[in-house]
Amino acid sequence: MGQKVIPLVERILPRVDMSGGPDACWPWTGGRDRDGYGTVSLGSRTNHTRTSTKAHRLMYQLVIGEIPSGFHVCHRCDNPPCCNPRHLFAASPADNMADMVAKGRSLTDELNPARQEPGKFKGRNFVPAERRARGESHGSAKLTEKMVRSIRERSRNGESQSEIARSLGIDHSTVGRIVRGQIWAHVA
Ligand SMILES: [Zn+2]
Repeated sequence: MGQKVIPLVERILPRVDMSGGPDACWPWTGGRDRDGYGTVSLGSRTNHTRTSTKAHRLMYQLVIGEIPSGFHVCHRCDNPPCCNPRHLFAASPADNMADMVAKGRSLTDELNPARQEPGKFKGRNFVPAERRARGESHGSAKLTEKMVRSIRERSRNGESQSEIARSLGIDHSTVGRIVRGQIWAHVA
């Protein structure tokens, strides 16, 4: 039973929801990985060339062109399943890191330096994103004692737990547990 080879464009476009119009996010309606990115299987199971790639990367290649070697394809809209090429840009690993820090998604830079020095990370690709930063998709993010103290202090000063959570890219239930001392109780 020979498998028909379907051109990539015909496989991808029908699975992209463009109903929102040219400027809206175009969510991938097919399978997604655990980070929310659309996935597409390429190659054949029978000759062991089967691989999986990300839908937004394919879309970038189809519409915009080659992705430079080692570059990431990032979302201006910060919406992983989105395949609208207008929302995509290629970034070097260093750019990608600066973008993540700017969006408050990297917890390795304690307390998000982008917020302390807003000008520093404003590059060509910088888009302020108050959306997303969903802690559940970054469940392995490391908190530090300094961050825990800062979270409690901000909460005492009246900042809402969801606002704190969003700014740090962690789940608000984590912030709640920290504030109530259910976790990190050993940090004063
Ligand atoms: Zn989008």
